[in-house]
Amino acid sequence: MINDKKYLSLKELNRIPWLIHGFGLAGFKLEDLKADSRLASFQAVEMNQEHSTRVLLIEQPPESKISADGLITARPELFLIVKTADCLPVFLVDTKHRVVAALHGGWRGTGGRIAEAAFELMRKSFSTRPEGTLAALGPAIEARCYEVGQEVYDFFLRQDFPADGIFLSGDKPGHFYLDLRAANRWLLTRIIGLPAENIYSLELCTFCKPQLLSHRRQPADQTRLINFIGIRNIKY
Ligand SMILES: [Zn+2]
Repeated sequence: MINDKKYLSLKELNRIPWLIHGFGLAGFKLEDLKADSRLASFQAVEMNQEHSTRVLLIEQPPESKISADGLITARPELFLIVKTADCLPVFLVDTKHRVVAALHGGWRGTGGRIAEAAFELMRKSFSTRPEGTLAALGPAIEARCYEVGQEVYDFFLRQDFPADGIFLSGDKPGHFYLDLRAANRWLLTRIIGLPAENIYSLELCTFCKPQLLSHRRQPADQTRLINFIGIRNIKY
């Protein structure tokens, strides 16, 4: 699945003519997007990501970086950027109203239900409906590489997530393995109401794959994977 391209994409989303998206590999930079002449008119919108559940609707390109962990837009030629190194990048696509969202799904954002917050804002702003919405889950640290403590487990349960299917028990008491992908899948299907077949997933582990970046594997490395989604300015 990993080829000589600088980013990965999902073929099901590539079929939508007005949509463009990618999950960057290590070494892929924002400048690489700007270097592509077909994408020259796009402007990148970056966030100061804070592991919050703050989601903003972008109608104009902002003057400076904004503090948030999720962005939504219906405006063509913006790239919504999420930077990750183990956290899960989540894209939502309202295929009927041509709206996209990019979310930063670490344990705090996922457990705080950022996907639900984003969908709620899309529903209020654009009358987005679950059956017309696709979700794309990018590379992230997988459960068997992602040990967490009791406080993370308790946080998810306080937010009404089921432990079953989302946590595996660790070898020691108070140690668990968290499946970020499964937690977001649960939110998308059971809470938001997306049909399961509307969710596409790149099942790649950032910790295991050297082509990706992992905070747990290389804690001193501050570089992040660049994930992007945007709307092309076409009529059909
Ligand atoms: Zn792994």
